[in-house]
Amino acid sequence: MPPISHRRLSRRAFLATSASGAVFAACGGATTAAVAPTPASAPSARYALPGLRYPFDALEPHIDAKTMEIHWDRHHRAYVNGLNSAIEAAPELATRPLEALLADLSSVPENVREAVRNHGGGHYNHAIFWDTIGPDGGGLPTGRLLDDLVSAFGSFEAFRDDFHAAAMSVFGSGWAWLCTRPDGTLALHTTPNQDTPLADGLHPLLGVDVWEHAYYLHYQNERGRYVDHFFEVVDWNAVALRREGAASAALSDGRATARVR
Ligand code: MN
Repeated sequence: MPPISHRRLSRRAFLATSASGAVFAACGGATTAAVAPTPASAPSARYALPGLRYPFDALEPHIDAKTMEIHWDRHHRAYVNGLNSAIEAAPELATRPLEALLADLSSVPENVREAVRNHGGGHYNHAIFWDTIGPDGGGLPTGRLLDDLVSAFGSFEAFRDDFHAAAMSVFGSGWAWLCTRPDGTLALHTTPNQDTPLADGLHPLLGVDVWEHAYYLHYQNERGRYVDHFFEVVDWNAVALRREGAASAALSDGRATARVR
């Protein structure tokens, strides 16, 4: 992995990057040492904005630098801050993995349930998003992931068409996903707003953010063109790692993630 370049990152972003001991972290009391609050967070904050492993302009021309900067530094940061506020209001949640909260929102106290759903989901979804795109993306997956996509969808091209159609089918803000079902087979899924596939019993491998904030500066209303270009930055190795359970194993021991990749 090449070293993270900070040339396009602000001082604050640099600090956030170097402090990103955790993506979904903060959960699992035994690993709290891995959690480093971002400078913008309150001292008691438990979740941190994960660092990007590439500069803001690394995904051009597919995703422009300004969109990356605003999306990561403002939108994602706001979700992290909102999640931390919810945890402060219901501290008993701090010892539970974020995935567990999102998979069973009914177990979250009602006073913070919507905040965990929206901000916790926003943090979770965006961490996956940054992790599964990159400057070396595009092309096709290989190995088992490619074989399973062909089995499930007929061909890689058919998968891409179906994923694209799913992304276009989202009315308003939301996400389209490639997920695994509990039996390990692949499925497409969509979620509104910042809902996660976890709440529907699915494990997300790859998601395209179709909120307008993800593409409007460069593509305006042309969501379809944005989704076409999204495929040029998908990091299939990262998707395959999620498939192989590396990410989920890390998540379940509470450490996920110390890196975005
Ligand atoms: Mn977003």
